[in-house]
Amino acid sequence: MGLAPKALIDHAALRHNLQRVRDTASQSKIWSVIKANAYGHGMRRAAHALQESDGFAVARLDEGLELRQAGFRHPILIMSGCYSPEDWLAAIDNDFDVAAHQSHQIDLLESLTQTKAAINVWLKIDSGMHRLGIRSDQVAQLTERLGRHPAVREINLMTHLANGDDRSDVYTEQQIRCFDAIDATPFSQRSIANSAGVLGFPASHREWVRPGIMLYGVSPFIDTTAEAEGLEPVMTFSSQVISVQQCRKGDRIGYGGTYRCAEDMPVAVIAVGYGDGYPRHAGEGTPVLVGDRRLPLVGRVSMDMITVDARDYPQVTVGEPVVLWGRGLPVEEIAKSSATIGYELLCGITSRVEFVDMNQMDGRKG
Ligand SMILES: *Cc1c(COP(=O)(O)O)cnc(C)c1O
Repeated sequence: MGLAPKALIDHAALRHNLQRVRDTASQSKIWSVIKANAYGHGMRRAAHALQESDGFAVARLDEGLELRQAGFRHPILIMSGCYSPEDWLAAIDNDFDVAAHQSHQIDLLESLTQTKAAINVWLKIDSGMHRLGIRSDQVAQLTERLGRHPAVREINLMTHLANGDDRSDVYTEQQIRCFDAIDATPFSQRSIANSAGVLGFPASHREWVRPGIMLYGVSPFIDTTAEAEGLEPVMTFSSQVISVQQCRKGDRIGYGGTYRCAEDMPVAVIAVGYGDGYPRHAGEGTPVLVGDRRLPLVGRVSMDMITVDARDYPQVTVGEPVVLWGRGLPVEEIAKSSATIGYELLCGITSRVEFVDMNQMDGRKG
């Protein structure tokens, strides 16, 4: 098998983080967001661990179909909605809840002649993000059209927060006010909150919340860690030392020789690179947990390897376990060092990495 990186996925941590959502938004049902292969963790795996969720939310129709094919009978919300009459038929056949964020999608629904099955449509309004969503002044007319459609069971209302990652930003309250200014009478259920809304803005909890990143044990805020939010990291990205070099003063390390040794020093080479999803832009000094020491990254990240300054741990040997992020080394820190966010790092683990499940519950439920 050789020495190669692994992604350990802690199912108990997923369950713990789901419970954290329950405790925080106790009046709300939970759409566990498992789009993008469950933020890189594996969609089916995450759905199994999170089967106590009230429903699953995904971005695209294909993701919902994969979940149904895997046997999940939960409510499934397709957040970017349908783009053809066939999409709507598939959504109806599979009993999906479907977001509609533009009138074109309702035109497509109206082009169907099918009248038997029933579907829940979530009218998605633009409350300030200006990405997807209909304007408030279109709501009444589109709601009326949906109300006339024989296949529509529930009409629901949703929106998405743009700046929730900053607890002090008043923009979130403005978005909630914009949402609340809409007459709620025609709507059976409503949803505003992503993870930041769940943890930071109780006023955004409605009948449903839509947490993603917090389920994976990452803080949704720019200035806090998962630990401070009571979350447990789910993915531990790990590897091993494959070589230790005794470098001399003045030696330059790796491609481009960007790092020059200030003195004679040991440099440990670790089997992980951007070909596995370690960020190529990780800055010099990015911490790497070797054994139980934090050693700083030096030199450029290669496709299959990284190099770390081992002066604080000269006894390091080949085969020593390494954590790139996860237990003992928050992904938030690596993200900051790489000018990105934890979301991107988690999503970026490549298919070359072996996934290992930990703390799975025996047997299936539901
Ligand atoms: C991805 C997504 C979420 C989850 O967001 P997190 O920040 O990961 O909690 C919720 N709602 C919508 C519409 C999304 O696209």
